[in-house]
Amino acid sequence: MSLLNKLIVTTLPLVPKPIVGKFSKRYIAGITLAQAVRVIKDLNGKGMMATLDILGEDVFERPAAEALRAEWPRVLDAIRSQELDSNISIKPSQLGLRIDKEFCYRNFKSIVEEAAARKNFVRIDMEDSTTTTDTLAIFRRLRAEGFTNVGVVLQASMRRSEEDVQSLVKEKANFRLCKGIYVEPAAIAFQGKEEVRNNFMLLLQLMLDQGSYVGIATHDEWLVDQASSLIQKRGLTPEQYEFQMLLGVREGLRDSIQKGGHRLRVYVPYGDQWYAYSVRRLKENPQIAGYAFKALFSGNHH
Ligand SMILES: Cc1cc2nc3c(=O)[nH]c(=O)nc-3n(C[C@H](O)[C@H](O)[C@H](O)COP(=O)(O)OP(=O)(O)OC[C@H]3O[C@@H](n4cnc5c(N)ncnc54)[C@H](O)[C@@H]3O)c2cc1C
Repeated sequence: MSLLNKLIVTTLPLVPKPIVGKFSKRYIAGITLAQAVRVIKDLNGKGMMATLDILGEDVFERPAAEALRAEWPRVLDAIRSQELDSNISIKPSQLGLRIDKEFCYRNFKSIVEEAAARKNFVRIDMEDSTTTTDTLAIFRRLRAEGFTNVGVVLQASMRRSEEDVQSLVKEKANFRLCKGIYVEPAAIAFQGKEEVRNNFMLLLQLMLDQGSYVGIATHDEWLVDQASSLIQKRGLTPEQYEFQMLLGVREGLRDSIQKGGHRLRVYVPYGDQWYAYSVRRLKENPQIAGYAFKALFSGNHH
């Protein structure tokens, strides 16, 4: 990353919210469920699946977590009544992981039950390293209770992921594999691009070795190519895995994945709590963050 980009990224929190909002529109389906439904219909029409995310994380008040939890049945109903090809993705800190683990578990359980009743699937997103152990424990407990419509995420940047995958494959977990977006110290996380890529491929092989279903979540063309060769070498059918990408990122790559005969799922976030998610996306893409920064100085905010 260039020095200028580094500067932009570290000073992004100083950019006023409306400007961040303007530049992050591409990453967010909208504020309302109806807007998200429209975006998903469009994706489904182009042969892509979706996973729907209600924005909102790091909730520290029980009523706020409960209010977010209560939104999910409405989302699941919309998916069913509009016949969308979409599952749902939920962040543990949205359902109160930072308040009380047991409370968070109960919230997840109620949503996983609601989803099971509608033949839908819940992906538990993975957040920063302070949440990994508790998140995996919630996932395992749900599986131990017999729920099969729930999956977990492992991050290739985390050194512990190899051990986690070794134990989770025994339980035939359904995985999403991604690089990991949170900044973590070198003691627990690989820092170099090559190390993370190599670990991504190692983890993918371990998952596929045991016949686990994997959502391969990346916009890194190198990884897409490597994963595609591996899939071909193993003779996997398109029902045994999927690729996943974020809304608004590298739509050209999306097309080439589809042309390769693979299934593709797009992560579709919506809601009024778009700020934290948007800042993470802009940090991944300093070029756009740079535009946001220039707008700040040119006075072109409106
Ligand atoms: C479906 C999905 C779900 C995810 N879920 C989680 C999760 O639960 N936990 C977690 O920690 N992380 C999650 N992530 C984020 C992931 O960990 C990475 O941070 C992110 O995908 C960037 O890594 P990459 O593999 O795309 O590779 P990178 O090397 O970061 O990106 C490859 C290329 O993609 C392009 N690109 C990447 N990001 C952007 C952007 N924002 N805007 C424009 N272009 C961009 C750039 O051209 C870049 O060169 C998820 C990602 C996806 C796709």
